[in-house]
Amino acid sequence: MQIYLSRPDITEKEIAGVVAVLRSPNLSLGPKLTEFEGALTRYVGRRRAVAVNSGTSGLFLSLLALGIGAGDEVITTPFSFVASATSIMMTGARPVFVDIDPVSLNLHPDAIEAAITPRTRAIVPVEVFGNPAGFDAVCEIAERHGLSVVEDSCEALGSALHGRRAGTFGTLSVFGFYPNKQITTGEGGAILTDDEALVDRCVSLRNQGRSAADRWLLHERLGYNFRLSDINCALGLAQLARIDEIKAARAHVARWYQEMLADEDRLIVPAAPDGVELSWFVFVVRLAESFSPDDRDRLLDEMRRQKIQVSNYFPPIHLQPFIAARYGYGPGDFPVCEQVAARTVALPFHTQLSEEDVAFVCGVLRGVLDTLHR
Ligand SMILES: *Cc1c(COP(=O)(O)O)cnc(C)c1O
Repeated sequence: MQIYLSRPDITEKEIAGVVAVLRSPNLSLGPKLTEFEGALTRYVGRRRAVAVNSGTSGLFLSLLALGIGAGDEVITTPFSFVASATSIMMTGARPVFVDIDPVSLNLHPDAIEAAITPRTRAIVPVEVFGNPAGFDAVCEIAERHGLSVVEDSCEALGSALHGRRAGTFGTLSVFGFYPNKQITTGEGGAILTDDEALVDRCVSLRNQGRSAADRWLLHERLGYNFRLSDINCALGLAQLARIDEIKAARAHVARWYQEMLADEDRLIVPAAPDGVELSWFVFVVRLAESFSPDDRDRLLDEMRRQKIQVSNYFPPIHLQPFIAARYGYGPGDFPVCEQVAARTVALPFHTQLSEEDVAFVCGVLRGVLDTLHR
């Protein structure tokens, strides 16, 4: 039997919510869209939300709403899911990477200022693995330089830094609801902001560039179809209503891993940093520096052979072949990111893992480490 890397947490409540929409006349742009957006604003603590069909669409629309495009530069992290950088490229702007903090694994605040040029318009910081550490410093730098912040909170729903929720740091903040996230809509995402003018632009861009006025076939700008159906929104509403329960169940699994791996000095085991309330997204351990990148890859292969799904979150974005080729990035450009990325092992992490499953994963992991270490 496979042990899955991630699994959604779906109950009869989610199923009933979806079925109710299917029995209704409105499968899209109906009442569940407005309800889901309202529930998100209340949970995160922002004035407005615009639900869209993916986190990537949310990042792209946020940048477009700020007027970012060809000729502009946007500072971001090379250690993330690729969409935080490709959404910048989609606008025609250039992603400018800076290295990460070796502890938080987020964009290093001290590295940002050296990368700012007259073309810089915004910063896209990412709460990697759900951790908002350093985001107060990033916002302070952005403000000092008159830059917008598009907060990629796609991994951080429910996290907080010194009591301030993830999703409240950006000029616009974006969540993603793919099935491996804390809550899912199947596919989906949302933009949160306090700025009504930005909301109007995002709403129009999401729906074929339509005007806010009630004229269905008046299109006032180049737009997209990034709408999120009421079926997805009903799923999201049922999930968001259960977020505290889901967060607690995930924290429980994280604690099992932390306890079972506490004595393992061949690994860096994740923990919530001081001042951070961590809504666990993934459980990523890192091999000690004495292990080579090849050791890590052999470990992943061997665990997969034993039917344990694992992953190498995240390969450096600047070394993705099409990005390295387009902008001339290469190995050695962001050494902290590269050193970290070569040694990560994302372990199975979801609410349906039992204590026995976690013990089995830890046992296999230790066994493979024994065969690797010299
Ligand atoms: C999940 C995720 C996204 C959005 O992904 P979609 O699949 O487009 O919803 C964006 N950025 C990060 C860092 C993510 O983890």
